[in-house]
Amino acid sequence: MIQGGNAQLEKLVSLQGLDNEIKKLKKFKDRIPGQIESGQKELESKKSRWNNLKDEIKDLQSKRNQCEQDVKAEGDNKLKAQQKLPAVKTNKEYGALLAEIDAVDVKVSEIEEKDLEIMEILEQKEAEIPEVTKEYEGYEKEFGVYKTSKQEESARLEKEIAEAEAGRQKKFETIDPKHSKEYMNIYTRREQLAVVELKGEICQGCYNQIRPQVAIEVKSSDDLIHVCQSCHRILYCEAEPTEGSESAVPK
Ligand SMILES: [Zn+2]
Repeated sequence: MIQGGNAQLEKLVSLQGLDNEIKKLKKFKDRIPGQIESGQKELESKKSRWNNLKDEIKDLQSKRNQCEQDVKAEGDNKLKAQQKLPAVKTNKEYGALLAEIDAVDVKVSEIEEKDLEIMEILEQKEAEIPEVTKEYEGYEKEFGVYKTSKQEESARLEKEIAEAEAGRQKKFETIDPKHSKEYMNIYTRREQLAVVELKGEICQGCYNQIRPQVAIEVKSSDDLIHVCQSCHRILYCEAEPTEGSESAVPK
């Protein structure tokens, strides 16, 4: 209830309330695509972590296979050198072959050492797989539920917005065109806030002081519409809750 019992002003106040409600619903609805998108991004990052880990494992396994092949090739070299031993004629040739065989042994032990290092990393990576897989699959499931609920929320909000807009239109049509036109002018120019409360002598739209005479008129006039001289918004004054009125009784 407002002070003064101005019926047109009362309607303008309630129109502003409906517009606020529609604005709020639209804001909620507009936030949803971004919320879904950020969940989607999170899912993709978990998936790529999982895929990268699998690729790393594959890569390490192929490196281990390469080590195995290299050891085998070196083994063949060693065997060839050993087979040449009985046929050598001089000490120099013999020494060269032994050196060759030693070199193969050194190479093999280097490869085996490298293989061991790879094996350790591989074991670590393989140990991470269950957790990373669980994290990705768990999030995928969670995100699916979240996305569905957000899509449902969006559809529900869309319906609520349509209903609120229909109600708003109905209310709008009951207002004197002179006032509804003024409302719309202020609404578009003043950040979608055309009707503001007057508290004491302070306009709640721009927080400037209103001339005392205007403040008295806002509270008492039952037909005139007053605007703030600073922000030009329509002013109203909330009625003081009277004792015994329904709003003063706690439920
Ligand atoms: Zn103002």
